[in-house]
Amino acid sequence: MLSFDEARDRVLEAARLLDSEEVLLDDALGRVLREALVAREPLPPFDTSAMDGYAVRTADLGAGAWTLPVVGESRTGHVTGPLAPATAMRIFTGAQLPSGADAVVMQEDVERDGDRAHGSTVPAPGAHVRRAGGDLLAGAQALPAGARLGPGALALCASVDVARVRVSRQPRVAIVCTGDELRPAGSAPRPGSIPESNGVALAAFVRQVGGQPRRLPLVGDDREQTTRAIADALQGSDLLLTVGGVSVGDHDLVRPALDAAGATLDFYKVRIKPGKPLTFGHAGSTLVFGLPGNPVSALVTFALFAAPLLRAMQGDSQLLPRVRRLPLLGSVERKPGRRTFMPARTSDDGVTPLTNQSSGAPTSIAWADALIDVDEDSESLSAGALVRVIDLSSV
Ligand code: AMP
Ligand code: MG
Repeated sequence: MLSFDEARDRVLEAARLLDSEEVLLDDALGRVLREALVAREPLPPFDTSAMDGYAVRTADLGAGAWTLPVVGESRTGHVTGPLAPATAMRIFTGAQLPSGADAVVMQEDVERDGDRAHGSTVPAPGAHVRRAGGDLLAGAQALPAGARLGPGALALCASVDVARVRVSRQPRVAIVCTGDELRPAGSAPRPGSIPESNGVALAAFVRQVGGQPRRLPLVGDDREQTTRAIADALQGSDLLLTVGGVSVGDHDLVRPALDAAGATLDFYKVRIKPGKPLTFGHAGSTLVFGLPGNPVSALVTFALFAAPLLRAMQGDSQLLPRVRRLPLLGSVERKPGRRTFMPARTSDDGVTPLTNQSSGAPTSIAWADALIDVDEDSESLSAGALVRVIDLSSV
């Protein structure tokens, strides 16, 4: 049985980079940049006032109190002539600094008397001026290739005057949930049935990591039906996620169905808890995960294997979720053996494992914001121990 690290290395080695496409900024949220974004012009593009006030030439002011006639005005979006010698010019935040001026005195520090401005202190050269290129020089890199575009990054694209960006195509991810017991949430209950929930979580997760999910109809525990659904799901997909039916029970039919649908398995079973039955393979150019059906197992294996794979396919420079070390609040009883990922909640003081650590607990995946990552050979952990904590919000 593979270790966690061996299994994840194999998964990441199987990733191939998807094609890129150009999209408008409004369509680029959560997408991964494929070319570095370079500022063609300085940012800001011209010297700008950072305050409402008066543009001055500091050499005109002498030392201490000063008085200058106010001549002209510089407003945002308009260009004015130069600052005449021994004058001050009215100026507003974001307006271009007139040539000749080297500082702005904020209006709160100026007394106006008709056409004249009086000040009591002399600003340093450059005061309240945002220099052209002060944020980025022309030719400087604004964002590297591999950056995932969040709201701030999109705004920076616009600030450097770019309306379209080259990003990775979205991975197409098919999701097939198996199990006679499953029915869509909100549908009429049958005896022994439960609402399907993993497909809901996985589709949302796929979107969160930049993919396009496609959920297929629920499949019963029937080999032919499962084979047909898998064959269908493989069409046009970059990745297939099956859910459930990969354990060793009599009705766990996903592996034989994957085989019948022409998939080759790379590995089956990993020394992790939960998620031991994780299965990985490929069919043509479509990669395939058989995720175990227990909700926590499905979440953990998606977060730690499938999400990094989807990021690698998009050229994301950040493949793995963020890991911190935090003090354990409470203690953990365990036997060494498998690398263990415990649903937990973080606070300012540390991390607390959720009370219900069953891999079948749907509350866990809603209430956890982190996984405590415990080494295979680790014994029980006592309160205060520093533990590795995987941040689920960075999956
Ligand atoms: P399995 O991996 O098929 O043996 O399923 C393990 C457990 O997870 C069983 O209790 C299933 O009812 C449950 N389960 C499987 N798939 C889903 C699903 N898509 N949504 C919610 N629970 C599921
Ligand atoms: Mg099942």
